[in-house]
Amino acid sequence: MGLARIKHPSHGQHYLLLKLPHEPYWCNGCMGLGFGPCYECEHEGCGFYLHEECANAAPSTSHPFSKCSLKFHYNAPQGDARYCDACGEDVSGFVYQCSHKHPHDYHPRCLKLPRTLTAGDGLILQLKKKLPSQCLRCGSRKTSNRIQGWCYVSSPDGYCYHIACVKEMILEKWRKDHLTQDGDVNEANNLGLQTFNPSRQIALPGGRSSSKATRIWRKAATVIMVIISALFGEPSALISVLVQYWLSS
Ligand SMILES: [Zn+2]
Ligand SMILES: [Zn+2]
Ligand SMILES: [Zn+2]
Ligand SMILES: [Zn+2]
Ligand SMILES: [Zn+2]
Repeated sequence: MGLARIKHPSHGQHYLLLKLPHEPYWCNGCMGLGFGPCYECEHEGCGFYLHEECANAAPSTSHPFSKCSLKFHYNAPQGDARYCDACGEDVSGFVYQCSHKHPHDYHPRCLKLPRTLTAGDGLILQLKKKLPSQCLRCGSRKTSNRIQGWCYVSSPDGYCYHIACVKEMILEKWRKDHLTQDGDVNEANNLGLQTFNPSRQIALPGGRSSSKATRIWRKAATVIMVIISALFGEPSALISVLVQYWLSS
């Protein structure tokens, strides 16, 4: 964790406080959604947020999955439509970019994704650069925008999910609930943000299913939950409560 109160060059007029917000926010740095600890402007009504990773991004970095030397930028210096090589989402703010002719781009948060995630029952998820098998969400090894994005693979079962696909699951649901047909944020629905809970957004299979199918589903759901907590920073306590709920229902 960084300092509790900082001034950040991207928002020089006010101080930011490290907080665990009560509702999801959009990071004003990388423009991505967040649920976990973040820096929030202390000025009332300002509504400026930064992911902790975005606020504390080092000027340069590297990642074991990439041979590139990566420099931090407030906006991507090269290219127009940029996509993150880890999560496949577009890049429209804070980014690490290399200096190659066809540069690689990464969100600051994506470079900080844990290499290993653990949950109860001996479940372990490993971050991988290449998919060892098809993604259980999209059935492919490439993301929908054809980026060879990263994934998490579970052991012992070998369930594999693109980071891109898990992100998309959450964002799709969020847009459906909070955007009007014109694509504007629905004001009347804005309050709904407070009750937006990513873990509840994964529908359970309808109808009666066999106990084996239910068991597989629960395992897959747990895998997704753990990935969501890594991607969006949801407190892991909430995740474990949900997992217990699934196991007991
Ligand atoms: Zn951010
Ligand atoms: Zn402010
Ligand atoms: Zn590169
Ligand atoms: Zn990313
Ligand atoms: Zn996928």
